Amino acid sequence: MKSVIIVGAGIGGLCLAQGLAKAGIGFEVWEADAGPQVRGQGYRLRIDAMGQRALRQCLPPDLFELFRASCAVSGPARFVDPQLNPLPGRRPENWRENAGAGEADGDLSADRQVLRDILSHGLAPRIRWGRRAKGFEREGDGVALHCVDGHAHRANLVVAADGLNSPLRRQWLPKAEPEAIGALNLYGKVSPAGVDPALLAGPTIVFADGWTLVIEPMRFGAEMSELAARHAPDCRLSPTGDYVYWAMFGREASLGGSLSAEEDAAGLRRRIEAMSSGLHPSLSDLLRRTAPEAVMGRPVRMAAGVPSWQPGRLTVLGDAIHAMSPAGGVGANTALADAAMLAACLADGGIAQAVARYEADMRSRAEQALAATRAGTERLLRRL
Ligand SMILES: Cc1cc2nc3c(=O)[nH]c(=O)nc-3n(C[C@H](O)[C@H](O)[C@H](O)COP(=O)(O)OP(=O)(O)OC[C@H]3O[C@@H](n4cnc5c(N)ncnc54)[C@H](O)[C@@H]3O)c2cc1C
Repeated sequence: MKSVIIVGAGIGGLCLAQGLAKAGIGFEVWEADAGPQVRGQGYRLRIDAMGQRALRQCLPPDLFELFRASCAVSGPARFVDPQLNPLPGRRPENWRENAGAGEADGDLSADRQVLRDILSHGLAPRIRWGRRAKGFEREGDGVALHCVDGHAHRANLVVAADGLNSPLRRQWLPKAEPEAIGALNLYGKVSPAGVDPALLAGPTIVFADGWTLVIEPMRFGAEMSELAARHAPDCRLSPTGDYVYWAMFGREASLGGSLSAEEDAAGLRRRIEAMSSGLHPSLSDLLRRTAPEAVMGRPVRMAAGVPSWQPGRLTVLGDAIHAMSPAGGVGANTALADAAMLAACLADGGIAQAVARYEADMRSRAEQALAATRAGTERLLRRL
């Protein structure tokens, strides 16, 4: 009998939970957030063919169909300079069009909160909200997991899916801490009303001097409640209207200097204001329309690689072990692929063999994704 504790109800942890539920393996999910809606989850996520395969494998068929149906409907991308002049030569090699916009197995653009709603559906009794892990101890054929509330719980296997700042990775693999790369991400969303219609046709990627701006219209096929009623009537999706997502990725020096954890909405607003001047009026207007509370910013940190260790009763997936810059657009996709692989290995055999097989696969897949992301990061941060 396997008992698994998954630490973190993010993209990777919940996908693993769905995969284990499908395989009939017992588990609990510990999540530090007090509830599913207490913290903004960010905005859009591009899910590539690898991520889609992982979701198809782990989700029940009706939820997978709901996931597909809930993604935005989009046209082909264009690549431009800050004055919206075409730059066809700058199309990144790793750019994939959206499904339905030129590539049969193209990307799907999901709303993060809606994806999290789908991934948590049916798991309510097994998710412990407000339970923050702080450390662990190995104990024979299991692991004792310590929670900040002072309690300890034992499991045959603990999976650290607790993201970029994972306390479990810090205790276990302190040298694997992701490092700041001297770049920032500023992102937000805005209502499509009044936005230049040319920016609503499909993604626009603007290459500027030392930074890049991605704009993507998120237009949904129908109301979320209607989509749920059609595909998985028991599933409650957060009401989510159409919006335009934007994300700037650039060198700190190009985006107003380093960003402290204390930077408030007004500070982020000032950066956006400064970046807006000198852009085509349609672009500066879009950025200036964004409500201050809808703007988020964070320094970009990235793992140098995935170190080696002896497989045991504690393993790790997603950003907790291979955090990447968003330049490659594969962080969440790699976390989903980890989850699907670990679920398949655990469904197939004993914990020791399953963890060893999973970790070998994860290591090589993550190293490839990190290498591609490093190359993508350099391309996007290039000075003109
Ligand atoms: C602006 C931006 C755009 C991006 N766009 C894309 C994209 O288009 N495609 C893509 O593939 N990737 C994208 N990424 C990367 C992607 O967001 C991450 O790689 C992905 O969210 C990682 O998933 P995860 O499950 O490993 O971690 P997370 O999604 O971060 O989940 C970790 C969870 O663990 C919880 N947690 C943390 N500490 C504890 C604790 N001590 N105890 C219990 N729970 C804890 C957290 O609350 C959280 O719910 C983007 C990132 C950014 C910043």
